[in-house]
Amino acid sequence: MSTTIIVEPDVQQKLAILGGEAADEVTDVPATQSIQQGITHATGFLYDARREGGGTTRLFKVLQTNACRFACKYCFTSCAIRRKRTTFKPDELATTFISLSRNRMAEGLFLSSGIVPDADTTMEQMLATVERLRLREGYTGYIHLKLIPGASFAYIERAVELADRVSLNLEAPNQERLSALAPDKEFSASMWGRMAWAAELMKQARREGRKAARSLTTQFVVGAVGESDRELLATVQRAHRELGLWRAYFSVFHPIARSPLADQPAEDPTRALRLYQSDFMLRDYGFSYDELPFDAQGLLPRDRTPKQAWAERHLHEPIELNRAPRHILVRVPGIGPRSADRIIAARRQSRLRDLSQLKALGVTTGWAAPYVLLDGRRPAVQLSLW
Ligand code: SF4
Repeated sequence: MSTTIIVEPDVQQKLAILGGEAADEVTDVPATQSIQQGITHATGFLYDARREGGGTTRLFKVLQTNACRFACKYCFTSCAIRRKRTTFKPDELATTFISLSRNRMAEGLFLSSGIVPDADTTMEQMLATVERLRLREGYTGYIHLKLIPGASFAYIERAVELADRVSLNLEAPNQERLSALAPDKEFSASMWGRMAWAAELMKQARREGRKAARSLTTQFVVGAVGESDRELLATVQRAHRELGLWRAYFSVFHPIARSPLADQPAEDPTRALRLYQSDFMLRDYGFSYDELPFDAQGLLPRDRTPKQAWAERHLHEPIELNRAPRHILVRVPGIGPRSADRIIAARRQSRLRDLSQLKALGVTTGWAAPYVLLDGRRPAVQLSLW
């Protein structure tokens, strides 16, 4: 009779597996997507994420467990794929992070997890880790906590109390697309509904002046199941409006070996870039969803930015930059909210007369020039000879 000896991995081995797999979610993306996701640099399980107000924070991104009972077709943690599974106990994970934090290797924690055996048990383990950090170790730094679809209200409430940011990845724009991507997941109640709870709890805490998570984010898998940009951005716009969503992230699909979508081609990273640019138009530039330049298939152009495509269709008269109000300035290709503010400040000092002044203010002059007047004149554009 043979005997099987099961050896429990030590903390270092768990870190290699659970930190490595979580980091893959952010490092296994093309450069343009990384930049748009606000990730500047990644080393194993540590990566530099852009802060809301500028600068970067070095985050320790880790899974509580890589065991999962779900079989999402885009995910390497799916139960349908054979791989080594392990779980951090809350004490182990809290101690590991605190040691990274005290050694100044990590400035914040981003905690995610596979789902096993159910949503509430998973959230209990994640919350136990965060409670040890906040209550036992007195850690007051940054924590981003993933919400688990289907978790009970009390767990969502506790997550909002303890974290600085919470997120729940919708993955797809609606139930039909989600069913094709993640057959076990339910969109309305267990995902959107949990985000709505979190949004309401955050709002309530703000009203009452209590400390709570300040931002809510989500992520979509792009290009796996035929969803259009129109569908994605309709859901993003609804999330901004109804949930006060801070940011949507777009993760271009990459086939995972031995998964049901293994033979499907990877999505073009430019698609994610155009989705981010459209989301900025909705959030920061005052465009409405109906103004986005979708084609008949509901897709955005890839060969130029959505703002350039909008301007080609709608900006028939040039804009005088010495007079235009801010909400018009930001509609000109090559002028963003920051350069619009700089233009307004600069024209109080002197009239804007040539492109070199605009360039110094951060304007992408090659994009802006065809649409503007400077002191009543079309700017002189140097034509390329090649
Ligand atoms: S629930 Fe999350 S961890 Fe589990 S298979 Fe789906 S995406 Fe992966």
